Amino acid sequence: MKILVADDDDASRTLMELMVSRMGYEVTSVRDGLEALDALLSPGRPHLALLDWLMPGMEGPEICRRVREAALEPYPYLVLVTSKRAREDLVAGLDAGADDYLTKPFDAAELEGRIRAGRRVARMSEELVAARERLRDLALHDVLTGILNRRAVSEHLERELSRARRESGPLAVVMVDLDHFKRVNDAHGHAAGDEVLREAARRLGATLRGSDAVGRFGGEEFLVVLPGATVAGAHESAERLRLAVSAQPVQAGKAAVEVTCSLGVAGWRAPRQDVDGLLAAADSALYRAKELGRNRVECAPPPDQGSEEASLPER
Ligand SMILES: [Mg+2]
Repeated sequence: MKILVADDDDASRTLMELMVSRMGYEVTSVRDGLEALDALLSPGRPHLALLDWLMPGMEGPEICRRVREAALEPYPYLVLVTSKRAREDLVAGLDAGADDYLTKPFDAAELEGRIRAGRRVARMSEELVAARERLRDLALHDVLTGILNRRAVSEHLERELSRARRESGPLAVVMVDLDHFKRVNDAHGHAAGDEVLREAARRLGATLRGSDAVGRFGGEEFLVVLPGATVAGAHESAERLRLAVSAQPVQAGKAAVEVTCSLGVAGWRAPRQDVDGLLAAADSALYRAKELGRNRVECAPPPDQGSEEASLPER
């Protein structure tokens, strides 16, 4: 654990440094309030700080206020060190965002006790942040394939469409569906089916670039978002995706499974089309690719060519 000692009084600072390093912690020390604030806001910031109340540059309570305003995560534990004994001063210090306080002159046992208490809180804060990151990761990713899940890729599309609208730029999506996927499960079992999905997701992901994104949209259906792509560009990307998926059989256990996919491309039609309209257009194009024999790319027609609904073939 890293501890910051900030005190302009040489004797008091040296004493705290000594006590803290004797406890086995890594200490940095400063004698100025602004330096203390800098250290606390820096990326490699300390987990706990002992802050003198009265210092040049910035006073302890103001440092606490600024650090709390920054809403840092994990949370640094702040201990105000003061010779002020008046109750209202201490309350003001805590209100400013300090977690605890020490009054000078302090003894080693008290300092150690406060630091141990602070370490418990700092650890808990770190664990909470880590747990939340894991949850966020779980919430955004598909468990089987590790790529974005339906919700996350849909949100990505929403954001990119808002951006395209703001910047009047192009945007396209590709809906990808593995062909006859049910047959893989039937012929080779569900473990092989899972392996095919994972490998297909990996091949799709490896083909994308820059700000492109791919997510698992349904069982064996994937959505690819191509910001900045025209329909022609997206058509080329879709061909690359198709070739990547079918390039070689997927090794699933002992079986080498031939995999192909059908793809539907739709370009965003500015300015009125929304996400649902765009996805519906890509979906219709995908159905047409299925109908026309699978393992192929079809593009949604431009708006002026009617959108006759084809009968929907089995995938
Ligand atoms: Mg001082």
